[in-house]
Amino acid sequence: MRALTVVPEKGGTLSLTDVAEPAAEEGAVLVDVVAVGVCGTDAEIVAGEYGEAPPGEDRLVLGHESLGRVREAPADGDLSAGDLVVAIVRHPDPVPCENCAAGQWDMCRNGRYTEHGIKGIHGFMRERYRAAPDRLVRVEPDLGLAGVLLEPASIVAKAWAEIDRFTERTVHRPRTALVTGAGPVGLLGALLAVQRGLEVHVLDRATEGPKPDLVRELGGVYHDRLPEAGELAPDVVLECTGAPEVVLAAMATTTVDGITCLTGVSSPGRPRRVDLGGLNRELVLQNDIVFGTVNANRGHYTAAADALRRADRAWLDRLLTRRVPLAEFAPAFERGPADVKVVLEVAPPP
Ligand code: BGC
Repeated sequence: MRALTVVPEKGGTLSLTDVAEPAAEEGAVLVDVVAVGVCGTDAEIVAGEYGEAPPGEDRLVLGHESLGRVREAPADGDLSAGDLVVAIVRHPDPVPCENCAAGQWDMCRNGRYTEHGIKGIHGFMRERYRAAPDRLVRVEPDLGLAGVLLEPASIVAKAWAEIDRFTERTVHRPRTALVTGAGPVGLLGALLAVQRGLEVHVLDRATEGPKPDLVRELGGVYHDRLPEAGELAPDVVLECTGAPEVVLAAMATTTVDGITCLTGVSSPGRPRRVDLGGLNRELVLQNDIVFGTVNANRGHYTAAADALRRADRAWLDRLLTRRVPLAEFAPAFERGPADVKVVLEVAPPP
């Protein structure tokens, strides 16, 4: 069958290759892939920055934001042929550490976890895959192709679950959130903020394209430059750019008892001058929390499925700005100003 593969850590190797049918030991459920979202992580793997093939193999099948249709499932399980499913990206480490053993693989302590299409196990930019039933999450058929947004939504569902916990420390309830970056993660993060009743501001450098309207349609305020000091003092910042200047500005912009959640994976190696003493003083004197978050466990996928179910379907569809058939994959990895989420179509959409 066809699959989009790379030689990890080697740029220029992305190609449509022939790969073996999924082996029976990969799981009892056989899934036909419908579509796979393309994200910044994929672009970095394609550029050769990181990625890891399965043990003993040279190439890695790319793709972790999947939407598929069950073809075969055990008769005694919860899944049936025809169900739309999303596969959980991360597998617990083999030891497993105490967190992985308890289903918190997103908080793995020894780094020996694997991730489909990223680290040590094949991804979903292929025609079919097999998985164990407990690695799959069912999505409502009504969601259609927008089900491909479940994985990025799980990332922000985790971020908000953590933020919610941190807000419990004060009587004051957060009122304002600033989301930096209006890509899919930022926009889905803004959606979850609106669903929590917060006044939402979104910062992105785009002045054209769909992003400003997508934010306004959510009821949020769109900013194409960082608000001046005193203009906005959010209780919570959800940082989704990973751009060092934005990260620094994000931490400094919160009000007292502020919470900054970092979700962007930045490229290291470009040191810059920072007044760390000044920043530390501000964080301490204001009781600020700054924390990082990555990945998601099953509970976060379930919360994300619930958030997508409650969202306006037409708004979700507008996040899917471009669809590229698997056979003509190259443009899926080029990002234009009008793109939010580019989707690689493997089979006809639901
Ligand atoms: C994925 C996560 C993954 C992270 C680090 C992200 O793009 O959505 O599931 O944990 O990359 O590999």
